[in-house]
Amino acid sequence: MIRRIAKSKPNAAMTAAPFVPASRSLGRLRAAATHCEGCPLFRPATQTVFGAGSRGARLVLVGEQPGDQEDLAGKPFVGPAGRLLDELLSEAGIGRDDIYVTNAVKHFKWQQRGKRRLHAKPTAREVTACRPWLEAELESVQPAGVVCLGATAAQSLLGNKFRLTRQHGDLLENSEVSAAWIMATWHPSAVLRAPDRARRGELRKLVIADLAEARKRLDRRPK
Ligand code: SF4
Repeated sequence: MIRRIAKSKPNAAMTAAPFVPASRSLGRLRAAATHCEGCPLFRPATQTVFGAGSRGARLVLVGEQPGDQEDLAGKPFVGPAGRLLDELLSEAGIGRDDIYVTNAVKHFKWQQRGKRRLHAKPTAREVTACRPWLEAELESVQPAGVVCLGATAAQSLLGNKFRLTRQHGDLLENSEVSAAWIMATWHPSAVLRAPDRARRGELRKLVIADLAEARKRLDRRPK
């Protein structure tokens, strides 16, 4: 059964909305996003990291934000978390041609530590500011389903009451989102950052099981 999520309240103070064109061509959206100044995160980042994948994808995967390697490459999920995501998708029986990958926030937020740029969590206002890009991508791709990777992506699309530990793998619905269902599971970086081997193995199994459930749902209901 798919459960319905309450409507979110827009935050007009800081938003990407004025930068989002009316066109739902992914090429036009991607080009326009390079000029977004909808929140302060564009300043320290190298470039906008827009989503990537097929316009005909049946499944959209949404992460939190680009990491250090993604910021430099300008592409989502190309670093260590992206490599692990490829493994997890393959174990769940999901092909790369079936998916479009993106992030809730399109610029890398980081803090300098010595010579390294360390990931810094985006605030709820920054996630809300960037949501018009995510909505436009979903309107363009029109997937059958969306899998949020991690709590930030889940809260962007499912509201701030969503709790990953309790609700991962549940099929949910949000009438504001252009997809029949939304599910959430852990971000691959949570698997990489697990404190020990046992927890890493446990999280890995949970993510594969959630992704396999998403695949079954896709198999039952073609786009
Ligand atoms: S994070 Fe999103 S809203 Fe903020 S500047 Fe980047 S693209 Fe625009």
